[in-house]
Parts: sequence; C-alpha cells; structure tokens
Amino acid sequence: MEKKDIDWANLPFGYMKTDFSYVCNFKNGAWEEGGLTPDHSIQMSECAGILHYCQEVFEGLKAYTTEQGEIVCFRPDLNAKRMADSAERLCMPAFPEDKFIEAVKMVVKANAAWVPPFGSGATLYVRPFMFATGDVIGVKPADEYQFRILVTPVGPYFKGGDTAVTLGIAEYDRAAPHGTGNIKAGLNYAMSLKPGMEAHAKGYAENLYLDSQSRTYVEETGGANVLFVDAEGTLVVPQSHTDSILPSVTRRSLVVVARDLLGLKVVERPVKWEEVLAGSFIECGLCGTAAVISPVGHIVDDETVVEFPAGAETSGPVMKKLRATLTDIQQCKIEGPEGWVCKIM
Ligand SMILES: *Cc1c(COP(=O)(O)O)cnc(C)c1O
Repeated sequence: MEKKDIDWANLPFGYMKTDFSYVCNFKNGAWEEGGLTPDHSIQMSECAGILHYCQEVFEGLKAYTTEQGEIVCFRPDLNAKRMADSAERLCMPAFPEDKFIEAVKMVVKANAAWVPPFGSGATLYVRPFMFATGDVIGVKPADEYQFRILVTPVGPYFKGGDTAVTLGIAEYDRAAPHGTGNIKAGLNYAMSLKPGMEAHAKGYAENLYLDSQSRTYVEETGGANVLFVDAEGTLVVPQSHTDSILPSVTRRSLVVVARDLLGLKVVERPVKWEEVLAGSFIECGLCGTAAVISPVGHIVDDETVVEFPAGAETSGPVMKKLRATLTDIQQCKIEGPEGWVCKIM
C-alpha cells in the first residue's frame, strides 16, 4: 500500500482531511447500519440538540504501525465502554461497544495510507464522537443522534520532547456541574478553556484542578490524569472520592505495568493538595493517549512553588521507566497483557 506523501517527521498535532470518515445515525430508537463516507462536513438542523443543550461526547485513541509493519491500536474496548458511560450521563443512546470496535477498524483500514510509518514518531489519531442531531427547543434529550469517527495523522502532542512543564492551580472547576468530571464530553472542555487561557497567560503549560466540592484533593489537568512518585519510589495515583476523575486508559494501563511488570508499589488513593505542598512527592507526570507520560517539574499556587526534585527538568527515573515500558508494549517490542494491542491489519 502506497503511503501519502507527507513529511511525517514534522507533522503538527493538527487536523487534516483523510480519505474517509465513519458515520452512523440513530433514528426511530435504533442505530442504522453505518459505514464510510468521503464527506468531511456535516449538515444539520439549526435546532439540533448539540447546538443548544450540548449533548456531545467523544473519545480519542491512536492507530500506528509496529516494527513488523502491522497497523494496530491500543485497548479500543476501553474507549468503547467509556463512550457508552459518557453517553449515559448525557441521556444519549450508547453506541454498541462491538460496533464501535468494528467501526474503528473499518475507518483505519480505509485510511491505511494515512497511518504514519513505524519510527516516525507520528500516529493516526482516531476521534470517535457523537452528538444530538434531532430538533429540541424545550430542554430535553434529543431523539436523533449521529456517531462519527474522524481520523487524522498527527505528530507528537508535546513538541518540547521530554522537557518538564509547570502547572498552575486553577481557580475554576474543570467539569461543568459536580458529577460530570468522569465523562469525556465537549462540555467539560468548554468549561476548561477560560482557566486554560489564564494558565497560559501566566506561563503555565496547564492547570491542575482540585476537587470542586472541597478544593482539598488533587483531581487532574484539563485533558490528562496526574501521577506522583513518593520518596520510597511508590507510584501514587490520585483517586477521586466523588468519582470525578476521567478514567484514563493510559493511567489504568500504567497502574498494571507498574504493579505487575515493573514490581513497583502502587497506591490509588485520594491525594490532598496539602501533601503535594508539603513536598511528599519527588516525581510528577501527566498521562494520556497523546503523550503517554509527560513530566511535570513544578506546580505553582500563587506564591508557592512545589518542585519535584527527581524530575524537575526532564522525566524522573520512574516516569521514564513507565513510559518506556508502556511504549514498548504498544509497539509490540515486549509482550503486554493479553488483548491490549488490537490488530487492525
Ligand atoms: C481523554 C482524557 C484523559 C486521558 O485519557 P486517555 O484515555 O489516557 O487518553 C484524561 N483526562 C481527561 C479529562 C480526558 O478527557
């Protein structure tokens, strides 16, 4: 198969049209058959529910080429399940999980020429999303929806390589109302734009959000879960007592890698911002599909600067090892747990 003529090594993290998207409509209480489309625009009613009451959820995963030349993706079953959970919270019909995985495979296969070659550092970003197309004027869930998948080749999310970033503490909440922080929905991202712009204006890469109820516990950033390492080398994974941290596929995978493959001690528990301030942790990192783990060197709260001494400039040893091991599993260089790498072609 002939690859597209693209400068793979210098791709930005941006959008470009590929050959096909996947589209499937929900009408009369059921999902239609669905299939590929070369049309990358959407026409809909001015009264569509998405435009007024924001019924939209999405997912993000990547397809990439292994050293053996296979095109694979990573744990798409978890994205399928999470999207169904997100939909439920916004009163949207779940897209069937097996149909989700088939659709991902179908659209990646059809765009195989756009999947970056092995070793380029680039990947094919896969973005499933679903939104209300049915008319609503009174506040209620719509009765028609569209599920789509767009794919686009992207370069590395963080251009700075392994340079540690600085976070600020956000003054606003990340998720819209209490209890929506654990779903992947555009509405949460809309709420994070303003604090995100304010963080950038102050020179921070991102915000660290505290729990909205008590502003006592660490939650996550706008689009990535946070991980800590304490002085004993234990991986400390913040857990929300109000279930408002997004269940990151990367974070859940790293917990297994740390515990079962690297033999590290892993503790998942609520983490107080006070503990971070007190200097309890020597490494900090952000995890998500795009970057796997990126190092955090400092967190700033007004006048106070917390430094993570083992990873202040670049990734500390534990974060480095975790990232290398998960990346090796994803690339099929070492064998990971059964079913993690999903072969597409
Ligand atoms: C997508 C997302 C993440 C990262 O999840 P992955 O499944 O690892 O990509 C973390 N936090 C939020 C709020 C997200 O939307």
